[in-house]
Amino acid sequence: MKIAAIETAHLLYRYDKPFTYGGGVCTGRLASLVFVHTDDGRTGIGSVYSHPGMVELVVKRQLEPLLIGRDAADIDGLWKMMYGLTRWYGRKGAAMSAIGGIDTALWDLRGKAAGLPVRKLLSRDAKDLCPAYASGLLWKEIAALETEAAGHIAAGFRRVKMRVGQSDEYDAAAMRAVRKAIGPKNDMMVDAVMRYDVATARRMAPVLREVRAFWFEEPFQPEDIDSFLALRGHIDVRVSTGENEFGVQGFREWIRAKAVDIVQPDVCRCGGISEAWRVGQMALEAGLEVAPHTWSDAVTMIANAHVVAALPNGITVEVDRTGNPLIERLLVEPPVVRDGVIKLSDAPGLGIEVDMKLVEKLRMPDPFSIPDGNYSDFAFGKAHFRG
Ligand SMILES: [Mg+2]
Repeated sequence: MKIAAIETAHLLYRYDKPFTYGGGVCTGRLASLVFVHTDDGRTGIGSVYSHPGMVELVVKRQLEPLLIGRDAADIDGLWKMMYGLTRWYGRKGAAMSAIGGIDTALWDLRGKAAGLPVRKLLSRDAKDLCPAYASGLLWKEIAALETEAAGHIAAGFRRVKMRVGQSDEYDAAAMRAVRKAIGPKNDMMVDAVMRYDVATARRMAPVLREVRAFWFEEPFQPEDIDSFLALRGHIDVRVSTGENEFGVQGFREWIRAKAVDIVQPDVCRCGGISEAWRVGQMALEAGLEVAPHTWSDAVTMIANAHVVAALPNGITVEVDRTGNPLIERLLVEPPVVRDGVIKLSDAPGLGIEVDMKLVEKLRMPDPFSIPDGNYSDFAFGKAHFRG
């Protein structure tokens, strides 16, 4: 099973009705798919959430020529080779994410060749059900938050994640409203999207305890481990971070410092299934839990779900419920959440089939010419940047 070609598809979707979130007004979505084709006619799929042009450079201009002809089953060897090749400009950011897209596709291929789902390759004890939570509740009016939160529960979720970071008054009212809307038996996570400082987080800690936040996510910027450490002992809900972290070397700092309770690697950013698995193992040894971040696309969501299902300390996977077509429509059979869990497919590999008609419809002709817009995490053009 030798690598014959690596194909990228950079997808762009534009909303008819943009919506407001912590980073401004979201006008569209971006994600990159990576297809690894082998000489025996198989194709593995992975995904990357980064600057599409940088992903194209790393995957097509540097890595593909060196990967062609190599054994696709040698995932560890190829990962080390890719990491070594990109180390001088990589380690964190786009290069690491691009490696991850190829790595996830190699896991899909390994599963297809072995006739086993990826989670069973990772662990014989992997579960078939993966808990999933509804992610949304973005800075809305309180009444709209209540309606949305109740809607997630009615749709089959048992956990919801909301965003705070506007003001003490809004944040407290919003948290109480969401708790009331979902009732006492369901869980709520609270994400401060890097907008707090230590004083604010300590002030809000009693409210987080009062609403029984399941976890409190990313209160501070990912470079600011000291603020996370300063919050320890001043909050009695679990603190999480990791969507903006890359690689074992990045997560090692958080885990060794015991700066958080839950780590949130994302296969499409942190270095693929291999690296998310290694981060998960490191967290397990340290007694920490793992709840991968997902925001970009359904390939990523399912890959993250396989990691959660295989890790004894895996908690749950994130489902973007803001109306993201790359989550809702990218797969021929979109995952269904019932009573708070996704039943993962027993089909080999990731067990998914991508809707290639949608891929062709959304494929950008040139990943180096991205139309101005705010794509949830990336802004292009002055009009779309909110500092
Ligand atoms: Mg977050």
